[in-house]
Amino acid sequence: MKDTLTCGKCASRKVIEMKGTTVSHSNIPYGAMKLSSAVKDYFVCLDCGNCEVYVRLTPKFLKWAEKQWEKSDRRGDDYV
Ligand SMILES: [Zn+2]
Repeated sequence: MKDTLTCGKCASRKVIEMKGTTVSHSNIPYGAMKLSSAVKDYFVCLDCGNCEVYVRLTPKFLKWAEKQWEKSDRRGDDYV
């Protein structure tokens, strides 16, 4: 939906992007003290109301998130 701007449920192309803001209360707190927050962007289908949410992958967020991923034991699950 984000890349194609086509609804994943009804295949409509009437999809708008609603950018989140850094002051939004729906942001996701992260970091050691949870002082940073990840901004979410929304993609909304105007035909069926389907909504997809994406976290904005800023360099700062990715730096923190990659560390969490390295710590998690789910890493490597994708080889069989
Ligand atoms: Zn739709």
